[in-house]
Amino acid sequence: MSKRALITGITGQDGSYLAKSLLGKGYKVFGGHRGSTSQKHWRLDEMGITEDIEFVKLDLMDQKSISRAIENTEPDEVYNLAAQFIGTLSFEQPELATLVDGLGVLKLLESIRQVNQSIKFYQASTSDLYGKAQEAPQSEQTKFFPRSPYAVAKLYAHHITINYREAYNMFACCGILFNHESPMRGEIYVTRKITKGIALWLREGKPIVLGNLEAQRDWGHAEDFVEGMQLILNSDQPQEYVLATGKTNTVKQFVDKTLTYLSIPGYWKGDECFDKRNNKLIVTTDKAYLRSAEVNLLVGDSTKIKTELGWNHKYDIDSLIADMVEADLRRYSKKAIKSTN
Ligand code: NAP
Repeated sequence: MSKRALITGITGQDGSYLAKSLLGKGYKVFGGHRGSTSQKHWRLDEMGITEDIEFVKLDLMDQKSISRAIENTEPDEVYNLAAQFIGTLSFEQPELATLVDGLGVLKLLESIRQVNQSIKFYQASTSDLYGKAQEAPQSEQTKFFPRSPYAVAKLYAHHITINYREAYNMFACCGILFNHESPMRGEIYVTRKITKGIALWLREGKPIVLGNLEAQRDWGHAEDFVEGMQLILNSDQPQEYVLATGKTNTVKQFVDKTLTYLSIPGYWKGDECFDKRNNKLIVTTDKAYLRSAEVNLLVGDSTKIKTELGWNHKYDIDSLIADMVEADLRRYSKKAIKSTN
């Protein structure tokens, strides 16, 4: 009989990649979602898997909807990928971020405990837990120092997951994931701003507006990271694992690599980038996009999952950029303009 997985955050980047991967392995996939505007399914539609998923109403703010979803779907595995107000955006609505990203996880764990304690549970922890990082690279042993309401809520979620494992002997585990991008990344993130931005620049000549060009990130590909989630959930012992590429690039390097991929000769003058062929502006900056509490250098050490579970990443920064650029060129070519918000 095929295994059954319930994914919260099915309409998000990771939810769509995970659903695709699990469907490919013969799973019956249930997608927990809050509302039902078809626009929110654009990722699943683009992957061609919307019809293969059974959707169930699930809002992390609402205990009843969670319990009902777990009772009705009878999953073997629950992946909690839902989250609200990622990163510094959470300063705008800190209470809501806490309710969804922190207490929402307690609600999920409590429902699993009451309905069926043998359901395996994966929690999406984040490198933002390290925030003001005390060492680099960061591993499972590195001290946490969260720097946003989102990260503080995720820290609670991380510990309550471990607590339920210890208190009730549940298979509850966390993956501490560093930034991972893809063509399905939301448009508020700098990587998508760049790849969508360059497609629009080619089309209309509209410059890309960015914040801190020197910010460095350890960027992986979501397709690789959802494989890691499954390894963690299907390992012998529920534990915490860091998933990262271990390599960093600056935002400026991301821009340069994108231009190189498209054979556009760019040059920088201060914080602005121009096309060498005609001096046309490609990238400019705006202080409004600077983070209020910037995190320290986040770069992950994934030795544990590589040695214990055999995880590795197929994509590097260049193939990640190629994948994202090609998708945005397809979406924003002269013929088709499609919003992916
Ligand atoms: P995403 O694209 O922003 O997706 C977030 C999902 O959460 C959406 O499906 C959203 O549904 C759902 N959601 C929001 N509030 C909810 C609520 N109250 N109840 C139920 N669902 C709700 O995020 P992602 O990049 O896929 O990330 C997946 C998870 O990994 C998140 O928990 C994130 O914190 C964590 N993470 C991500 C990264 C990364 O680099 N991507 C790194 C570390 C950790 P709607 O469509 O209804 O808005």
